[in-house]
Amino acid sequence: MAGPPSELASTVVMKFGGTSVANADRIRDAAQRIVNAKEAGQRVVAVLSARGKTTDELISMAYEVCARPDPREMDMLLSTGERISCALAAMVINELGHHAESLTGSQAGIVTDETHTKARIIDVRTDRIERLLEDGKIVLVAGFQGTSASIRGDDGEYEIHGNVTTLGRGGSDTTAVAIAAALGADVCEIYTDVAGVYTADPRLVPDAAKLSMVSFEEMLEMSASGAGVLQLRSVEYARNHGVRIHCRSSFDDGPGTFVLTEDETMERPLVTAVTHSTEDARVTLTQLPDRPGVAGRVLSALAEANVNVDMIIQNEPESEGRSADMSFTVPREDLEAARTALQPLVGELGMGEIATDPGMGKVSLVGAGMRTHPGVAAKTFTVLGEAGVNIEMISTSPIKISCVVREDDVPTAVRELHRAFGLGENGVRREDPRGPDHRPRA
Ligand code: ADP
Ligand code: ASP
Ligand code: MG
Repeated sequence: MAGPPSELASTVVMKFGGTSVANADRIRDAAQRIVNAKEAGQRVVAVLSARGKTTDELISMAYEVCARPDPREMDMLLSTGERISCALAAMVINELGHHAESLTGSQAGIVTDETHTKARIIDVRTDRIERLLEDGKIVLVAGFQGTSASIRGDDGEYEIHGNVTTLGRGGSDTTAVAIAAALGADVCEIYTDVAGVYTADPRLVPDAAKLSMVSFEEMLEMSASGAGVLQLRSVEYARNHGVRIHCRSSFDDGPGTFVLTEDETMERPLVTAVTHSTEDARVTLTQLPDRPGVAGRVLSALAEANVNVDMIIQNEPESEGRSADMSFTVPREDLEAARTALQPLVGELGMGEIATDPGMGKVSLVGAGMRTHPGVAAKTFTVLGEAGVNIEMISTSPIKISCVVREDDVPTAVRELHRAFGLGENGVRREDPRGPDHRPRA
């Protein structure tokens, strides 16, 4: 059990996702991994997710009793899932002869803003975790949750109010990264049910290849466009605080995917991955008056309702005096909130009715090499066209092309693009993680 003195010991944060703690055996396996790290002389903090489908079940439970659950109470409910995992894992670790202590997000010092169900971490007060680590304990932290505080001014001062908050779906990743940043951990290991970050969701594309590394820039675009393997905010947080993420399998010991700076990844593959999302919805506002400030008014109304707007398309009307149409996508679960937020604007701005379509999805290509290679968009649209997939909206960034398509077309679109850009098992040299050719080139 004895490792090097704590000032020499490295610190590791290990995060286990829902599948990795789903049943008793998996909890035991996760506990064993945690203990192995401790026995290797590391200071170990483990962040656990709720078991299996617990969070989904808790959400369903809320809707069984109530059509519009109060967000504060929703957080109170949802935060219980990760606490169960932590308490159970602590019991196993203690039985293995080590000393573990489980903490809620609040006890672990995770301070967030007050946006229930989508809170952002504003501070991590590590004193309690540090004390436990100094005492040689293994610390287990309930992921996905914090305690609310109101921000006082621009200097980052805040006042704690102490309501339970949650960090949005997939938020345990962000808990882990934030703790890793605050402790100055050597690495934040994200243990999950796949072996790392792949060239496409392996559930949809069986021959998707594991990436040995991916740049923050690419991973940000991937997470933002549906690669749920790492929550978007966790990647942002890691980039902003210089945290090293290693995303890997909780079922085997092989190396996973490192998320690194672009300098460290060394190369700019044309296309790194195809990502997708389903359960999107489109909102179209018609006959918007063509004058300054209208788009700002629309987006402010949505921001106040905490609706995340994704792709926005607006065209300048062709001739003087004509009105404009604006379309944008939102997560389907936010569609009602969006409609409610926008309804007052129909009268206020004198616009037409709000049209919505809940059956949308999105497919995106991400790759740092797109910056310097034109032609990816043309090929993307041609491939989709030949596959009979109609593109409903398009947006691009320097390293991403996204197409909104019908949700039913998403699997075909992803597979065809993955094939056409040669991203499969044969396109990626897995044995040479740092070599110049480990990913497909233009
Ligand atoms: P956890 O419960 O461990 O947090 P998640 O379900 O949040 O796991 O994330 C892992 C899942 O992400 C995988 O099972 C996989 O289906 C999905 N996924 C989507 N896109 C990708 C991708 N590009 N690479 C790897 N996994 C992906
Ligand atoms: N349990 C939460 C969810 O299912 C958080 C997480 O797993 O990261 O979204
Ligand atoms: Mg997750």
